[in-house]
Amino acid sequence: MDLRLLLPSLIPSSQSVYVLVFYFVYLAVAGEILPGKVIRGVVLSDGSQLRYRCNGLFALSLLVAILGISAKLGVLSPLVVADRGLELLSATFIFCVLVTLVLYITGRTSSDKSSSLKPHVSGNLLHDWWFGIQLNPQFIGIDLKFFFVRAGMMGWLLINLSILAKSFQDGSLSQSMILYQIFCALYILDYFVHEEYMTSTWDIIAERLGFMLVFGDLLWIPFTFSIQGWWLLHNKVELTVPAIIANCFVFLIGYMVFRGANKQKHIFKKSPKTPIWGKPPVVVGGKLLASGYWGIARHCNYLSDLMLALSFCLPCGISSPVPYFYPIYLLILLIWRERRDEERCAEKYKEIWAEYLRLVPYRILPYVY
Ligand code: NDP
Repeated sequence: MDLRLLLPSLIPSSQSVYVLVFYFVYLAVAGEILPGKVIRGVVLSDGSQLRYRCNGLFALSLLVAILGISAKLGVLSPLVVADRGLELLSATFIFCVLVTLVLYITGRTSSDKSSSLKPHVSGNLLHDWWFGIQLNPQFIGIDLKFFFVRAGMMGWLLINLSILAKSFQDGSLSQSMILYQIFCALYILDYFVHEEYMTSTWDIIAERLGFMLVFGDLLWIPFTFSIQGWWLLHNKVELTVPAIIANCFVFLIGYMVFRGANKQKHIFKKSPKTPIWGKPPVVVGGKLLASGYWGIARHCNYLSDLMLALSFCLPCGISSPVPYFYPIYLLILLIWRERRDEERCAEKYKEIWAEYLRLVPYRILPYVY
């Protein structure tokens, strides 16, 4: 790649700043005014519970409709993202740095004692900026953690749609691109259909809001998870019918386990007596589910996410490692996260957790890990 061409394309133009500002303002307004199920978050250590308006699917559908109509009327080019990918990436990066500096300063100066806003300060500037200081900081009543993850997931779909439009325009639309687009779109739409499940995930309940999470949500998810799409714009792949069928299987099995495992845990937390696969659930110490997917391995949901990530790359064939960036990164992330989650659970559940480990010895992949 020619660095003389790369560097200027990294400097955000005013248009890419407008795109970003429009996007965030739209999400803030839509998140507040569009109807949606209001879900209570987990009970925090001070007994408080946050409320989340899960109207992401509505907000996303409306946004795609607005963008589609604008493109039809010639007001906005559907290629705006595909043509300005690097600029948008650097504009987002600058935004992440600025917003996390503000979060750092607000966190350090907060005297709030609530679980959501109580400052957790280690004294190490880098550590506090990276991991964050407050659990659930807000801006004009908007829960920022929930807002950023929503922005990242929607951004991923918008980038993909723009890449799709670009491949139409330059005549490079291929079976591989269609498969990649369908799998990702189904995954992202499913995320928003089940947005309420997000409220009990590790990021929302345990992670403070610092650079790691903001960068992960706003930049990492949309820009790196779409690498396969960018790659397919410039590379042609011929897929055989058996390869397409195998790819669909990996996606479908991954999806079934992913949705099943996350749903079983979510339902168990809300009503612990609900049968799992037609039988009363096996419960450890009244708190931990040890049947269904949660009786096969302690994180079948991670295994299935890895299968899904692989299914997003298989349409690119095996000629290059570049499209496989996402599953490789996810493998490292989920192994690390699983270890951190285990530490947290061991501390929280003590002997109940030890009993669960005895009943379910495998972490992610039964009989292997
Ligand atoms: P989990 O949904 O597995 O949540 C872990 C928490 O669930 C634990 O801290 C504990 O919390 C509770 N828990 C664990 N085991 C049990 C059990 N047996 N019974 C009842 N409760 C249990 O993890 P994540 O939040 O990390 O992930 C959620 C989903 O998001 C996963 O499918 C994951 O793959 C996906 N993900 C995707 C990423 C990506 O980049 N694509 C990145 C990260 C996650 P408590 O204290 O409430 O009991």
